[in-house]
Amino acid sequence: MVSYKELGLVNTRDMFAKAIKGGYAIPAFNFNNMEQLQAIIKAAAETKSPVILQVSKGARNYANPTLLRYMAQGAVEYAKELGWEKPQIVLHLDHGDSFELCKDCVDLGFSSVMIDGSALPYEENIALSKKVADYAHQYDVTVEAELGVLAGVEDEVQAEESHYTRPEEVIDFSKRTGCDSLAISIGTSHGAYKFKPEQCTRDPKTGRLVPPPLAFDVLDAIMEQLPGFPIVLHGSSSVPQEYVDMINQYGGKLPDAVGIPEEQLRKASKSAVCKINIDSDSRLAFTAAVRKVFAEKPGEFDPRKYCGPARDLMTELYKHKIINVLGSDGKA
Ligand SMILES: [Zn+2]
Repeated sequence: MVSYKELGLVNTRDMFAKAIKGGYAIPAFNFNNMEQLQAIIKAAAETKSPVILQVSKGARNYANPTLLRYMAQGAVEYAKELGWEKPQIVLHLDHGDSFELCKDCVDLGFSSVMIDGSALPYEENIALSKKVADYAHQYDVTVEAELGVLAGVEDEVQAEESHYTRPEEVIDFSKRTGCDSLAISIGTSHGAYKFKPEQCTRDPKTGRLVPPPLAFDVLDAIMEQLPGFPIVLHGSSSVPQEYVDMINQYGGKLPDAVGIPEEQLRKASKSAVCKINIDSDSRLAFTAAVRKVFAEKPGEFDPRKYCGPARDLMTELYKHKIINVLGSDGKA
């Protein structure tokens, strides 16, 4: 048993309370490798933004759970080295799908876990989420639960059909589970193909897809039921077209990739939405930078020469999100 406090991490409680009051959102960035982690910490340290490091079940399998935990501990020390005296860093399990997985993360030093029972029938979702919350709270680890179903693919999470969160269920659900924050479904979606072309319109000038707007009426109804309760948005990459273009220009193939427009995320950040999950955008930035090096310098075979530019582009992306979209800069 390792407490996250020994690792220099914090849970989400104070962070979310301040974010709701201050009208901004905390970035939750997924990481699987060293370059992503370096980019996240550098961006957060340079902008003094609280940050949530997210690890999915797939990332744990990819990188090794023990190694990931020590990477997070290293991240705290790295942040201090960068001049961030009191780093506000959360280590969070993204889409935990069982009590055992969540318990394992709590025991390994995570400061926050998500239990995703959203695919289960309502009562089973409550029972599972409550079991996780009861365990995690003994160690002051915060818990995110989910109501409503997001479409799209994220590691091992996949749903064909989405349905919005039902505002009439949120009071009952949050009370009975004891969760600290609630992930909702209002039209965001996992992956780089958030909408099918037939769900979108096309900009006549650029020919690009224009996605349908998020269901802010549902968000408003949820906030009315649960005033001041922390809300989480998953699947909130904006799929920057500059990266999609770079990937396609240098030999990739991502036709009609489309995300959530940043102005909608900006609007959400000002509400009780206090955690916004961004993963695909960093995957796109990484891939775009690597493809560019490979296309321009086919003789290059030193991974540092293509992972380095990828890291730089991701750092730029994270800083942009923090400063221009979520508004969390200067809040830590
Ligand atoms: Zn998600």
